[in-house]
Amino acid sequence: MEDHELAPKEVIGACDIANINLQRALAYIDSDQNGLAKVLQEPKRVISVTFPIEMDDGSVDVFHGYRVVHSRTLGPGKGGIRFHPAVDLDEVSALASLMTWKCALIGLPFGGAKGGVICNPKVLSQGELRRITRRFISELGDNIGPYIDIPSPDLYTDEQTMSWVYDTYDVMHHGNNNRAVVTGKPVLLGGSEGRREATARGCRDVTEHFISKGLVPDLSEIKGARVAIQGFGNVGAVAAKLFCESGATIIALSDSQGGIVNEEGIDLAAASDYKNIHGTLVGLPETLSVTNDALLELDCEILIPAALSKQICAHNAENIKARLIVEAANGPITPAADRILAERNIWVLPDILANAGGVTVSYYEWLQNLDNNQWELDDINARLHKLMRKSTDAVVDRWQSLQRLTEERDTELGDDGADNASPYPADLRTAALTIGVERLAQVTAQRGIWP
Ligand code: NAD
Repeated sequence: MEDHELAPKEVIGACDIANINLQRALAYIDSDQNGLAKVLQEPKRVISVTFPIEMDDGSVDVFHGYRVVHSRTLGPGKGGIRFHPAVDLDEVSALASLMTWKCALIGLPFGGAKGGVICNPKVLSQGELRRITRRFISELGDNIGPYIDIPSPDLYTDEQTMSWVYDTYDVMHHGNNNRAVVTGKPVLLGGSEGRREATARGCRDVTEHFISKGLVPDLSEIKGARVAIQGFGNVGAVAAKLFCESGATIIALSDSQGGIVNEEGIDLAAASDYKNIHGTLVGLPETLSVTNDALLELDCEILIPAALSKQICAHNAENIKARLIVEAANGPITPAADRILAERNIWVLPDILANAGGVTVSYYEWLQNLDNNQWELDDINARLHKLMRKSTDAVVDRWQSLQRLTEERDTELGDDGADNASPYPADLRTAALTIGVERLAQVTAQRGIWP
């Protein structure tokens, strides 16, 4: 692949992005409800912890972790725990607010939360990861719980991590059914069938239903589409498999070390085997290597960022060639990039809709745990499918009414319209956020502000 010059990368904080996006939604909501803007911009509770861990070589290292609850208006906090060197309070807070809007949009009885520990899981042993998880959870103490705040997996945490979360909490609260304290557990430990695949499955359900509406020119089904996926972890690898099952050609995949391309379609079984043996996809026979930046700019119908945030920014949005971007990752597109993509008629299925399958099946897991029950996989997938389609319909309907509203405003403003127009488009993200924000505002009004 050809190297290309990159414009300087956009510098913007995660909370700044969250607040710009919130303002975009508030611009379309009744002024009565705008009174809540100040509350919604701030997390409800922030916990910051520092703790020592004895490393395998006998030395002692100090780790920092955060757990943020953005809102408890709709129910207990819900959100992942990530282990990554780039974890910081700004990002965790922004991700917690995203969870608030996601749960509100889908109609789940949870508030938004997120957590993270600053560490590099790639250089830590299983023993070290177990000690970090247990110590972090014990530091959080009674600030998590089945009716308080319920963690789940995220970047570089998995079923094993959730088992340790459960075990630590259970040791601290023996005598109770504690399974509902955490979701994304192994099935034997009360995890839900289908949870591991749920985020990617929801992504496919949303994509399939959205493109069937005929809004994306020349793309009405997944079958035959060329798909590029950034990230080959829990979400990206399963998305590749599911989109391929639906008849797409997966032309590019990547992990933290780089990307691979085969225009004829990548052999996914070979890719998984290669990654298991070599720790990376890069070098897979019958593929060309690309950088993660170049992967985003490949000629394809559907681009799925499934790794980190802020991957599509002002510096590269002009170069995106996909017709539809499906945000499997949280926050992969900045507001400046949103504007450029909208101007270029590139559709974006926003994270709070596109990756909501994960928290939805986490909700099913929570229900099963409270009831000491285990649902059938077909039943879970059918419920998920129905809810993802319904939520997609709601977002598209709202988008259409925002379009009408914008046209009416522009007509009223006449020639001054261009000067007074919002710098951000009334896109699917704005539509999805308005539904979530409105729902939260209504429930806040019903509950009343304490005291
Ligand atoms: P994961 O840890 O299983 O996988 C992450 C993948 O990203 C890995 O393949 C890794 O190699 C890759 N990666 C890391 N750094 C990269 C870089 N600089 N460039 C390209 N790729 C890089 O994580 P996951 O659970 O698959 O989560 C991926 C994204 O999806 C995150 O944004 C997460 O917040 C979001 N998400 C996850 C879930 C879930 O259920 N796991 C639910 C909703 C949203």
